[in-house]
Amino acid sequence: MTGLLFRDDAYLRATTARVVALHERGIELDRTVFYPLGGGQPGDTGVLVRADGSRIAIVDTRKGDTPESVVHVPTAGAAWPEVGEAVALELDWPRRHALMRLHTALHVMSCVVVAPVTGGNIAPDKARLDFDIDMALLDAARIERETNALIAQGTPTETVWISDEELDARPELVKTMSVQPPRGAGRVRLLRIPGIDLQPCGGTHVANIGEIGAIRVVKIRSEGKHNKRVEIVLAD
Ligand SMILES: [Zn+2]
Repeated sequence: MTGLLFRDDAYLRATTARVVALHERGIELDRTVFYPLGGGQPGDTGVLVRADGSRIAIVDTRKGDTPESVVHVPTAGAAWPEVGEAVALELDWPRRHALMRLHTALHVMSCVVVAPVTGGNIAPDKARLDFDIDMALLDAARIERETNALIAQGTPTETVWISDEELDARPELVKTMSVQPPRGAGRVRLLRIPGIDLQPCGGTHVANIGEIGAIRVVKIRSEGKHNKRVEIVLAD
């Protein structure tokens, strides 16, 4: 089990931790500020600092064997710490913050384009959503203008937890057809942007959508019958 500190505070950039297991893919710690790949958001990168001061570059973060364990993937050839060793973690914050801004921007944009979401991906420099919609209904200038108008409202975001049963009773909350929220843990995490969006999401978001700044729509193209892709970047 790894304590998922980013889930309660996405702004934590560092923590101390203890090595609990070594896996083929990487190092499992008792807690972490590193988000593991999932929900279209890439795994975090950064540095793991050993007690002797030596630094191990972490090039990726993945979910472990259980839903609540996280594996930190060290750069090839690094000397790994030992089980039980106390270490420190430092996040590549500029990269993660860009991911948080773009991720939250997708939530806002998903309310401007009213259609089922069939896919999505976030990178540090761009993000996209795929919609099941007629291409003729996708107007880049309108999407950009309306998304930026919502962002400019500067609304705070909130994390809400609901039970599996509550979610089952409200299927309209799930916009993403390709990625159903994980069930079975008894509760599901939602991101709420009051007046704008409410949907299940386990990723990291900015505390106020004003922090996104503004976005630009850089590409709209068809990737298949049910995948009309809208790609965005941060304007600054
Ligand atoms: Zn999200």
